[in-house]
Amino acid sequence: FITGKKRVTELAHEVWRNIVGRGDSVVDATCGNGHDTLALLQMVSDKSGSGFVYGIDIQSSAIEKTSSLLDTSADLDQRKLVRLFSICHSRMEEVIPKGATVRLVAFNLGYLPGGDKSIITTPDTTLKALQAASQMLGSGGLISAMVYVGHPGGRNELEAVETFSSGLSPEAWICCKFETLNRSSGPVLILLFKK
Ligand code: SAM
Repeated sequence: FITGKKRVTELAHEVWRNIVGRGDSVVDATCGNGHDTLALLQMVSDKSGSGFVYGIDIQSSAIEKTSSLLDTSADLDQRKLVRLFSICHSRMEEVIPKGATVRLVAFNLGYLPGGDKSIITTPDTTLKALQAASQMLGSGGLISAMVYVGHPGGRNELEAVETFSSGLSPEAWICCKFETLNRSSGPVLILLFKK
């Protein structure tokens, strides 16, 4: 699971692969440059065309970057399995079909690498989005939140995500935290498994 030079994002993908399978519906709640969206598409895409990736980002420039990464890296049949939305993820319930059973909701919080660093995820909308995600997730599903703490406000956001996670019922959820002990500002991965 953990080997030499792996980045924490790759570790998150390894965890996702254990939960997500062909034909599942998943949500990337922070598309950014599209790397997670592409990784998810590769996990769900099914020849029968039944898997789905719903990608969300508040910045239209991020949606464009994700879209062009998918155009160059996914084949045409896979590309049809993605729907991208330029909205705040706190509104995810407005764009994901009612009754869809979602297997994974992924958050990669903070700012868009290479983009405007003043546009960052914030605790209030992140909490609303986590709440929405927890409602639409099916049994056996996962909410994965990569939380960066090196930028102003990052630690507050981590605190908010931890408080939300600690409050989930232990009968219904297993909530874990993965942090690097030898890098004080390394990202923290929060994993919320729905029983
Ligand atoms: N997952 C991305 C990737 O693979 O490249 C990286 C995501 S980046 C760290 C965080 C993203 O969250 C940014 O693109 C930013 O625009 C987006 N974001 C910030 N606030 C948001 C919000 N309220 N709703 C949805 N996306 C938001």
